[in-house]
Amino acid sequence: MPLCLSRRWHLRQLIAASSLILLVACAEKPTAADAQPLQTVPVATAPAVIPPVVPTGENLDIQPTQTFAEWQAGFRKEALAAGIRADVFDRAFANVSFDESVIRADRSQPEFSRPVWEYLDGALSPLRVRKGQALISQYADTLQAIEQRYGVDRQALVAVWGMESNFGQFQGTKSVINSLATLAYEGRRPGFAHAQLIAALQILQQGDITPEKMLGSWAGAMGQTQFIPTIYNTLAVDFDGDGRRDIWGSPADALASTAHYLQSSGWQKGQPWGFEVQLAGGFNYALADGAIRKSVAEWLQLGVTLPNGEQMPAGAEHLSAALLLPAGYRGPAFLILDNFRAILKYNNSSSYALAISLLSERFSGGGLVSGTWPKDDLPLSRSERIELQNLLSTQNYEAGNADGIIGANTRKAIRSAQQSFGWPADGYPTHKLLEGLRNR
Ligand code: CA
Repeated sequence: MPLCLSRRWHLRQLIAASSLILLVACAEKPTAADAQPLQTVPVATAPAVIPPVVPTGENLDIQPTQTFAEWQAGFRKEALAAGIRADVFDRAFANVSFDESVIRADRSQPEFSRPVWEYLDGALSPLRVRKGQALISQYADTLQAIEQRYGVDRQALVAVWGMESNFGQFQGTKSVINSLATLAYEGRRPGFAHAQLIAALQILQQGDITPEKMLGSWAGAMGQTQFIPTIYNTLAVDFDGDGRRDIWGSPADALASTAHYLQSSGWQKGQPWGFEVQLAGGFNYALADGAIRKSVAEWLQLGVTLPNGEQMPAGAEHLSAALLLPAGYRGPAFLILDNFRAILKYNNSSSYALAISLLSERFSGGGLVSGTWPKDDLPLSRSERIELQNLLSTQNYEAGNADGIIGANTRKAIRSAQQSFGWPADGYPTHKLLEGLRNR
């Protein structure tokens, strides 16, 4: 997934850490949190469901073959052919101009990554927990009605709300039409931006929002839920009954839209997201792979236990779980269930999903991690990840494209290399492994 964080402090964010542990190759994308002031902890979240991109250096140099004005004239014809009224289009594009900062953000490939434990510290800040608790009380009736309709528990909804826009506070300040037009003209994924732009015009035509108020992140993620326009068109709801799906101004609409999204992503009412677990000595760490699912009962037989001698909740034994090691075998371990996977559909980053999961428990006083993070083991930088991939491939471990993204192929290659050294094969890239391969 794309390494596309824009601002300087985003350089410290979670690109590597997340891509290491993603169940599928993916990336952090900035949200409206980009726009928040520095005193607030920047949270690496993503606009809802931006599909994976293969980040390729080649694409970064592509220059458009027409001027922005020529592109806009051509796009106007396409939009009208797609059913957008001329007056809607012309009002939406009245003040549109090419935005260089959007292109810079789209092409940014940060060198340094934020460790997962630092990311979680920011995401689960005491201030955010307290604010979420207050909002759970304040919106108790609304949240209860949403729970009843969609079967998604209120703590998870408020956690998403907090992560996506700091409870509506940071929704992004860019014109969505302007950003998407810029990306459709010169972005790395013009087809994707084009489809989002048509959807954004459809939203304006439906009358849910005016162009002036249709604000979001540079990537076109909008409002308190940070929905991209196609997701909005499919899943946003008018829960407060005023006739408009107002994910910008109405917490009820934003929370219900989030619930609708999670429900449609496979949320299982009443189930936990997962559990922190401990692994017996000699555990086969190669099983920590999002593609390997077993029942909780099978994991227990393999030596997985709950921390502090706790018992597994009744009825959990039959649930389908994968084992997540966000910082490799030396760090905490988690069994993740269907609801964790539903959160990944919102933002395909296991760090993000873990933050949502733990934050939702913090609101009720839980969500503390028992395991110890390997804080001496900082994430590899982008150039180190590329070097690692090249070394792996040179030594016949077939890491795939040396793109700095630790996807399934690279993790498999890392496991093979770890096994050749006689080390635990957790698929997690470390400086130790990089050194070991350099010195062979
Ligand atoms: Ca409404």
